[in-house]
Amino acid sequence: MPLRYLFVDMNAYFASVEQHDHPEWRNRPLVVVPVEARTSSCIAVNYLAKARGVRVGSPVWEAEKLCPGVVCAPARPERYVEIHKEIVRAVGRCIPVTKVMSIDEMACSLLGAEREPAKAEDIARSIKAELRHSLGEVLTCSIGVGPNVMLAKIAGDMKKPDGLTVIRPEELPDRLYPLKITDFPGIGPRMEKRFHRYGVTTTRELLQLKESALARVWGSRVHAERWFHLLQGEDVPDLPTRRRTVGHSHVLPPAQRTPDGSRAVMVRLIHKACARLRSIGYWAGAMAIGLRFTEGVKWHTARQLPHCQDTLQWLLAFGEMWDERPTDAGPPLQVWMTLTDLKPAEAATPSLIPQERQATALSHAMDAINRKFGKHAVRFGGISGAEGAAPMRIPFNHIPKINPATN
Ligand SMILES: [Mg+2]
Repeated sequence: MPLRYLFVDMNAYFASVEQHDHPEWRNRPLVVVPVEARTSSCIAVNYLAKARGVRVGSPVWEAEKLCPGVVCAPARPERYVEIHKEIVRAVGRCIPVTKVMSIDEMACSLLGAEREPAKAEDIARSIKAELRHSLGEVLTCSIGVGPNVMLAKIAGDMKKPDGLTVIRPEELPDRLYPLKITDFPGIGPRMEKRFHRYGVTTTRELLQLKESALARVWGSRVHAERWFHLLQGEDVPDLPTRRRTVGHSHVLPPAQRTPDGSRAVMVRLIHKACARLRSIGYWAGAMAIGLRFTEGVKWHTARQLPHCQDTLQWLLAFGEMWDERPTDAGPPLQVWMTLTDLKPAEAATPSLIPQERQATALSHAMDAINRKFGKHAVRFGGISGAEGAAPMRIPFNHIPKINPATN
């Protein structure tokens, strides 16, 4: 098995961009925050602040307590995208970039002689030199080389900042044993708990699992199979997006064949589809909605959004789309909606806009509450405009008392 990929991962990217642009902030602990408020949380943390115990997600007041004098830089998403483009161009001058994985990560295929470890390391060093030359000293990267993208990424994570690590196929699996199981892409806190329930707490135990056992833990044979082969160092193509759409339609009962009634049902269908989207781990890039009227008229419209999976954004888009419907076509009979252009979560880049990220987190929190307390325990109320609709007076009237801060 050859070394097929080189993976570039920028170190503490947002924080580094801020220090790149603000020389006076260099060599100081720094966090990036969504808004200049002490109640918000850090979305990026540089290494000096990390060394003092500050983490991504730490509240700003806590960062200031752990690290007096820490610089709190307000996030500038547009700037991060601008520099991202420069980085991709700089890497591309050394080796073609096969796939941009996220704002600060990209994978490059190694071909022919490039697969020799010494040659791959040369390329990695040339990338570092090119980044230094075109963007200066502050924006460093860790580079990993491995037999597939996942292992190259894991190699890159082994040394930060400014690392260069090669995982050779013949070093598998031993080279992976010192890792925590959460160091593997795809094993977050929730999946870690599942592994624990199956008695798997170390990477050694993880790597000894048979494919069938892995499928049981994972809850998905397709994902487990792919992962199993990746861990062996095989190159497995990305999972195809088998699922193309998530959608629902509903024939309106007579009482709901009104503008408010049909709107209320549509809002409910959007809530349902978005929850489904999140539960299967997909992000959608477009939504179509449609209406059929009792007189036979049909109408539909569609919108594209940057890929997202939170209910709020699709509801906001829906609000605009709904205004385009014909108002002289008689009573509505049926409503339908579909989310399309789906991407698996691992292929989607989370939004750079902090508010959008919070909205996604909020949607996931709502899912958790709804799983625990019943389907309709919480949903978005006022923004939907459906609050006047008779069949849907749900909004926030029976939200269980939950205080996430103390839970
Ligand atoms: Mg990074």
